[in-house]
Amino acid sequence: MTGSSGQSGVLEQLLDLHEIDQQILSMEGELKRYETELTVAEEAVARLESALEAVGGELERARLEARGSERAVDDKRLRLDRLRTRVNQVRNERQYGAATLELDLARQDIRKLEDNALQKLQVVEDLEVRRAALLTELENARAQAGPLRDEAQARRQQLEEELAIKRDRRHNLAIRIEQRVLGLYDRIRAGRTGVALAPLTDESVCGNCYTAVTIQQELQIKGLSALVCCEGCGVILYPGDLKR
Ligand SMILES: [Zn+2]
Repeated sequence: MTGSSGQSGVLEQLLDLHEIDQQILSMEGELKRYETELTVAEEAVARLESALEAVGGELERARLEARGSERAVDDKRLRLDRLRTRVNQVRNERQYGAATLELDLARQDIRKLEDNALQKLQVVEDLEVRRAALLTELENARAQAGPLRDEAQARRQQLEEELAIKRDRRHNLAIRIEQRVLGLYDRIRAGRTGVALAPLTDESVCGNCYTAVTIQQELQIKGLSALVCCEGCGVILYPGDLKR
């Protein structure tokens, strides 16, 4: 066991390391948030692009169908004209009856075909409206993603430079710490929250999870006679009034 002053030195080293580790963690978090934000924006653009492409394809097919049904109406009208001519040319009652019947049927057909053509045109119109709305949405999404990309690019570069410096400092601090202590610290920090150290509060509880320590542990912590880990959350506890 190291002496009082030695333990205080170790704790100070660990606190320095912890501070820089927390800074690195928060910078990494910021970097990740930028990337997530950018990914979300870019995914929105991609989603709208593919939706627009799908509507474009649908529109093309709908226009073809509408043109086809208009042609069918035109063809039927020509046929109707020919039937009218024939009605005028019939020679007897029986022929007249047959021709007018055919004419009536053709008129009914035309109405159906016209209805059909109108429906197809409505489909085209609806798709055009949808496409216009998607185009507006896409423009907005692009207008949002563009600056975000530039901003994220710049901030990412800056953060990465700062991180490189911090990691370098971290390395220089870590190599001065006793291997056994560093190993303990790294194991604790590998936990969920990344917190490895906490002060013992005035109420003699862990500053991280508020679990109480035993009287013996309190004496060890305050007397800097041993490294004591919290039994609740596992962090290394240091005296709240430790000089740094
Ligand atoms: Zn704790």
